[in-house]
Amino acid sequence: MPAKKKRYRIGVMGGTFNPIHYGHLVTAEEALYQFKLDKVIFMPAGKPPHKRDSEILPPEERYLLTVIATASNPDFVVSRLEIDRKGLSYTIDTLLELHQIYGPRADLFFITGADAVWELLTWKDADKLLELTEFIAATRPGYSLEKFKKLHVLPEGKAGEKLRPKVSIMEIPALAISSTDIRQRVREGRPIRYLVPEGVASYIYKCGFWKD
Ligand code: NAP
Repeated sequence: MPAKKKRYRIGVMGGTFNPIHYGHLVTAEEALYQFKLDKVIFMPAGKPPHKRDSEILPPEERYLLTVIATASNPDFVVSRLEIDRKGLSYTIDTLLELHQIYGPRADLFFITGADAVWELLTWKDADKLLELTEFIAATRPGYSLEKFKKLHVLPEGKAGEKLRPKVSIMEIPALAISSTDIRQRVREGRPIRYLVPEGVASYIYKCGFWKD
C-alpha cells in the first residue's frame, strides 16, 4: 500500500504589525507548538480593511520591521502578498492565493487577535473563509474567555454553529504588550526595550517613527 502523503500545516499570522512586538512573536511560537504547524507565515496587512488610522506606518516599513523581528527563527517567514496587492487587504484574497501556492495538501490556520476574530462574520466572504481555514484567536490575559465565547466569537444561533468548530482560543500572557502602548511609549520617550526585539527598537528610533 502506498505511504499516505503528509499534510502540510501552515500558520498564517495576520496583523497590521504597527509595530510588531514580542506578544506577536510569542503568539506565533505558541501556535506553532500547540497546533503542530510546519511553519508560520507572517502576513503584514497592506491596507487593513477595518482601519482608518493616520498612525499606521507605510506597508514597506511594517514589512521591514516584521522581517527584522523574525530573522532569527527558521520556522517563521514573512510574506509580501498583502503588501504587494493593490486595494484593501481582504483575508479571503490572501487565503485563496495561499491555497493556489501550496495546493490541496496544505491546511491553513489563520492566527490573529481575538478582537479581530470576534468581527469575523463581518469580513468579506465570511462563509468561504470558514471553509478555507481554521482560526486561532489570541487573547490577552484578563480577557474573560467565557464571556468572549458566549457573546462574541461564538454567538448563539446559526452563525455560532458555523464558527464554533472553526475557532480556537489561545491565551497568551505576553499579549499584555500592545502596539498601541509601544507607539505611546515612543511618543513620550519611555523605554520599549524588552517589549520589541532590539533590531525593531533600533529601526524605530533611527527613522524617528511616531515622534511627530
Ligand atoms: P486589530 O484591530 O489591529 O487588532 C485587534 C487586536 O488583536 C489588537 O489587540 C491587536 O494587538 C491584536 N492582534 C492583531 N494581530 C495579531 C496577531 N497576529 N497576533 C496576536 N494579536 C494580534 O486587527 P488588524 O491588525 O486590523 O487585523 C487582524 C487581521 O485580520 C489582519 O490580517 C487583517 O487583514 C484581518 N482582517 C481582515 C478583514 C477582512 O478580510 N475583511 C477584516 C478585519 C481584519 P496589537 O495592536 O498589539 O497588534
